[in-house]
Amino acid sequence: MCGIVGYAGIKSAVPVLLNGLYKLEYRGYDSAGVALIEDDGLKVIKTKGRINTLDQKLQDEPSSSRCGIGHTRWATHGEPSDVNAHPHVSDNGRIALVHNGILENYLEIREMLRQEGYTIKSQTDSEVAAHLFQMYYNGDPIATILELGRRLRGAYAFAVVSADRPDEIFCTRRDNPLIIGLGEGENMIASDIPAILQMTRRFIVLSDGEAARVTAEGVTVYNALGEEIEKEVNTVTWDTSSAEKGGYEHFMIKEIFEQPKAVRDTVIPRIKNGLPALEECGLTDELFKDIDRIHIVACGSALHAGLVGKVLIEKLARIPVIATIASEFRYSDPIVSPRDLCIVVTQSGETADTLAAMREAKRKGAKAVAVVNVVASNAAREADGVLYTWAGPEIAVATTKAYSAQLSALYLIAIKAALANGKITTEKAKDYCAAIAHLPEQIEEILKLREQIQYLASAYHNRNNMFFIGRGIDCAAAQEASLKLKEISYIHSEAYAGGELKHGTISLIEEGTVVIALACDPDLLEKTVSNVKSVKARGADVILVTNSDFEPDGEVCDHVIKIPACPAEISASLSIVPMQLFSYYVGAARGCDIDKPRNLAKSVTVE
Ligand code: GLU
Repeated sequence: MCGIVGYAGIKSAVPVLLNGLYKLEYRGYDSAGVALIEDDGLKVIKTKGRINTLDQKLQDEPSSSRCGIGHTRWATHGEPSDVNAHPHVSDNGRIALVHNGILENYLEIREMLRQEGYTIKSQTDSEVAAHLFQMYYNGDPIATILELGRRLRGAYAFAVVSADRPDEIFCTRRDNPLIIGLGEGENMIASDIPAILQMTRRFIVLSDGEAARVTAEGVTVYNALGEEIEKEVNTVTWDTSSAEKGGYEHFMIKEIFEQPKAVRDTVIPRIKNGLPALEECGLTDELFKDIDRIHIVACGSALHAGLVGKVLIEKLARIPVIATIASEFRYSDPIVSPRDLCIVVTQSGETADTLAAMREAKRKGAKAVAVVNVVASNAAREADGVLYTWAGPEIAVATTKAYSAQLSALYLIAIKAALANGKITTEKAKDYCAAIAHLPEQIEEILKLREQIQYLASAYHNRNNMFFIGRGIDCAAAQEASLKLKEISYIHSEAYAGGELKHGTISLIEEGTVVIALACDPDLLEKTVSNVKSVKARGADVILVTNSDFEPDGEVCDHVIKIPACPAEISASLSIVPMQLFSYYVGAARGCDIDKPRNLAKSVTVE
């Protein structure tokens, strides 16, 4: 997490850095700072709080700097405070450094530095890197920054400016992202693309272990041995307005409304002659014939997409699927064989736990395919095959459109696997693909229910507990619905399999507890309705989300949200939409910071 930005060019650096930091604020927002090379040397301004606090502070600090670096933090080591904010300055005051990631051996290095007479000011792991840079500096900043990588264990993206090299930025990375934007007479570094779009659409992706020197005139990239290398120049393909709110009050609601497009862009190019065409993604018929088992490994909402994928792949393709939390998978000595396929799902392609899990699966011989949104991200580069979701940039911390795009990508995988294994007919596969291609229009229909859902949110936003229940696919979708609500509104919520509540948790249901039941599989509808009745009888206020014609009475539920009919297997794509809207409006009614929920950050690049 955290956002890094740097600028070397012809313009005043402060507005460019601030603009870049605002664009990266979704990555972390507990403190922020900049280091500027001014005519009279290095100046560091930093503060606890959000970018606008830094912005205000910078109003009182006239600057003529044309070269500097900036940081927006998501604290991992040391509380959010002025002193712990980045940039950190070396003991001699000549070097400023920003860091994204976690340095695992910082305590021993801190001790060593203390013994060498360095004064440590902050509680962060990052500060040691600034002092180490000073210690190793031998006149060659690239050699020095590469040496940092050899001495420090853990994950990092570093950017450094030095009073001795006033027009230059030096940077390197391992396991945390860093790109370099290429302009005319100006260049930028950043953790993510939205920060550079103010200047350019052309960029280089720095790979693990590489370092770069960035000035107004040019960019030089070096490999881990310090040798100059050529890098491919990429161009941002999406429209810059995708990273703007465009008249919506929040990114989250804008992104909810972008879901039809996200799903369409993800699936339409992958359906050829009515069938999934995934060979280019490494998902061939031979692969599915060759595997005994699939692991889906992910975190958070991506894992919830994986839970839906598991139900579908098992149901259609009859291949056993284990969906596992990536942070558990990586340390569990997982049972993985060369006849396994590992599917990792990650929006950013930089999720530290997911990347580590994928490496572990590959180390044990499995093939790995990444379902990922960010082009050329680590996951995309390290996997054997990539199925890109084309959701475009997602800025709100709580995912909506990327999750929907992940679901549709997993549907295609399930159908492809089922066809390859001869478990469904070509006709059936075509029916499913047609139904998937129809989802964007159906999502558009659901978005028209906005006012009904806003009304329900205003009726229930002041409750303290909510439960989401469902069976089968609905149970998997309920997990995501529940997470959305807690992320955005801070209401305690839990998701349960409909049949499981009675084994304990039903004791928490009392007068006024809200229960939202998802019932989009006609085969399981009656069972879910029985579960709903049992909570209704205990005083719950029940909202039922269903795609069937079933007309419940007041004994069953208080409200019904009717969504369009579609095959039960892909209904999670529809049932989640009213739940996203509900979470959004509940959060808004409670005055929550919708796009930047407390304690969270997007793109979780730390363990
Ligand atoms: N570990 C560093 C800190 O806590 C950097 C965190 C980040 O990536 O924002 O300051």
